[in-house]
Amino acid sequence: MLQGTTALITGASRGIGKAIALDMAHSGANIALNYIGNSEEADAVRTLILKENVRCETYECDISDFNESKRMSGDVLKDFSRVDILVNNAGIARDNPLLGINEKDYDDVMNINLKGAFNMIKHLYPNFMKNRSGTIINIASVCGLRGWEWQANYAASKGGLIALTKTVAKELAGRGVTCNAIAPGLIETDMTAKLTGSKKDSFVASIPLQRAGRPGDVSKLAVFLAGAGASYITGEVIKVDGGLCI
Ligand code: NAP
Repeated sequence: MLQGTTALITGASRGIGKAIALDMAHSGANIALNYIGNSEEADAVRTLILKENVRCETYECDISDFNESKRMSGDVLKDFSRVDILVNNAGIARDNPLLGINEKDYDDVMNINLKGAFNMIKHLYPNFMKNRSGTIINIASVCGLRGWEWQANYAASKGGLIALTKTVAKELAGRGVTCNAIAPGLIETDMTAKLTGSKKDSFVASIPLQRAGRPGDVSKLAVFLAGAGASYITGEVIKVDGGLCI
């Protein structure tokens, strides 16, 4: 379904990004796999991807750095000649009540979650303009739709990412390029591993489907959005949250 395409996925060494990389590779996409420091995990994901008989290269890069992300985008275009699918997935959380969020925690979250996506879209904009096709998928969060206690920095970054998604969708629609966001709820990854015991139990009890999500719940939607069946969908924010925000 994605045969012959190239997907660049940020933060694909672990968690949701890893699941998206594996599922897109399974659907036939060649994978440019970004991570920031965990080269062992990135290499392990690459080994799994190569079993799907597609190409895969890994790129260590801090996407929040404008020049580094420009260099990586250039390297990916040199290696694969085009990018058809950009998944802005890399993200971090530094949760605290607003009064406990220091300047660094605010800046780091905004710089990686929001500026990082801006950087990647900006550097690959000419690629999408030239190809007159392609899709951008931004991994946002339900926090960006509703706001969330103790996540002022994170929720603001994801709200910004949703606004960025809609703006890019409008700007690139004339070129046949779509841009959508996925807003996951609670997904079991390293990011949420701190939530345990009774706190986790009561959170899960508030989810209508009565379970936390898995990375595969998000990646299946990403594969759909990247495929031809989603070519008339743009500017959307689709929740994958087990009904949490009904
Ligand atoms: P995760 O397991 O913590 O993985 C984070 C990934 O991002 C890793 O591959 C990490 O690379 C990479 N990364 C971090 N900072 C980076 C940077 N500056 N440049 C490049 N790569 C960077 O996270 P996750 O739970 O899968 O989350 C993925 C996305 O989903 C995030 O945007 C997150 O906000 C969003 N999300 C998650 C949940 C959830 O419940 N888990 C819910 C809603 C939204 P290394 O391995 O090299 O460190």
